[in-house]
Amino acid sequence: MAEAHYDVVIVGGAAVGSSVAYHLAADPGFTGSVLVLEKDPTYQRCASALSAASIRQQYSTAINVEISLYGISFLRDIGSHLAVDGERPDIGLHEGGYLFLATDSGRPALEAGHAVQARLGANIALLTPTQLQGTFPWLSTADLAAGCYGRSGEGWFDGYGLMQAFRRKARSLGVTYQAAQAVDVVRDGGRITGVVLADGTRISCGAVVNAAGAGGPALAKAAGIEIPVHNKKRMIFTFRCPDPVERCPLVIDPTGVYWRPEGEGFLCGLAPPDEEDPDSTDFDVDVGFFEERIWPVLAGRVPAFERIRPGRAWAGHYDMNAFDHNAIVGPAPDLSNFYFANGFSGHGLQQSPAVGRGIAELIVHGRFTTLDLAPLRFARMAENDPVLELKVV
Ligand SMILES: Cc1cc2nc3c(=O)[nH]c(=O)nc-3n(C[C@H](O)[C@H](O)[C@H](O)COP(=O)(O)OP(=O)(O)OC[C@H]3O[C@@H](n4cnc5c(N)ncnc54)[C@H](O)[C@@H]3O)c2cc1C
Repeated sequence: MAEAHYDVVIVGGAAVGSSVAYHLAADPGFTGSVLVLEKDPTYQRCASALSAASIRQQYSTAINVEISLYGISFLRDIGSHLAVDGERPDIGLHEGGYLFLATDSGRPALEAGHAVQARLGANIALLTPTQLQGTFPWLSTADLAAGCYGRSGEGWFDGYGLMQAFRRKARSLGVTYQAAQAVDVVRDGGRITGVVLADGTRISCGAVVNAAGAGGPALAKAAGIEIPVHNKKRMIFTFRCPDPVERCPLVIDPTGVYWRPEGEGFLCGLAPPDEEDPDSTDFDVDVGFFEERIWPVLAGRVPAFERIRPGRAWAGHYDMNAFDHNAIVGPAPDLSNFYFANGFSGHGLQQSPAVGRGIAELIVHGRFTTLDLAPLRFARMAENDPVLELKVV
């Protein structure tokens, strides 16, 4: 039987892979064929299905602010971007804001980040402790020096819904999805000419996109490329609070504990310190981590949280870029048709619209035609030119 051929093969069909697929298929300059390989069409364990599904403008690096400014405009208008047969997807976007809190020691970094965000037009307010107390009366502010609150452009949404909306629209535009695992690539000098599936089938292609999330490093390795991306387990815990905590944004405590409203209750989490954060592939939840590390902080910051009732919890994985905690976007220098969209380090869902569009532009036009994502280029690692993101939640 003749080998199947596609102009572009995308490995990984969750939020990022499906965004690339949609943006390719929707580009009038693209007339090729697209295959998305997804090893788990139930999407049960991909990060896109297990995330906190939130979007913020409060980053320390300009490129991340610009990416999220586009992200929020896309999400606000998702109904027109991704409607299929007149049916407009609804991802329940709620612009409830982020609130980063700082003590004296964290204040300079908070202010520096705020200056970047304000320069780029993000609607973020720098608040004094008195203003914090007035705006969020349920908050303990005694040890705080300042807070940054997103008045608009930040909040949360149905992340699974976003992924499915990209997928559905891509399929409606002619993209093929195949339930299969890519286990190898065929390399011919400076180009990839094919992808090998777990059952041995070989598919020839004109370009490959690595949108495999936690599977990204293995796919890169198959092409002979090491990327500094590590799987880091992150747990999310939910709880209910009998007392009202009104107009609560997504709050990031100076300790790193974060929480936000979710349905009738809240969700929360905390990144462990580096020395307690090994690479991981399991999905086990450590309830003790909530009880010992998170709950005391919650109760200290919001007295009403002393009386919470813990609910369900789950774990997923960040594809953490150890180089600078930012995504790798674009081709590897010596493999011109192997495009990377990896290492999102916990902010890939909100970046999926801009990165999907950017990769599609590179494939179709050979350059970024809208937002310049060059700061996130693969080569920055060899050039030792990090885009160090200080605000990793
Ligand atoms: C607990 C948690 C909270 C988060 N919170 C947020 C948040 O609030 N906001 C935000 O923006 N981001 C958040 N993130 C990060 C975000 O979820 C990810 O960055 C984003 O979903 C990455 O999307 P992706 O499509 O690249 O990867 P994934 O969603 O992981 O998808 C990769 C897909 O590739 C498939 N695959 C892998 N290898 C292969 C292969 N060899 N062949 C075929 N298929 C393959 C997998 O089955 C999977 O479906 C969070 C992540 C976690 C874990």
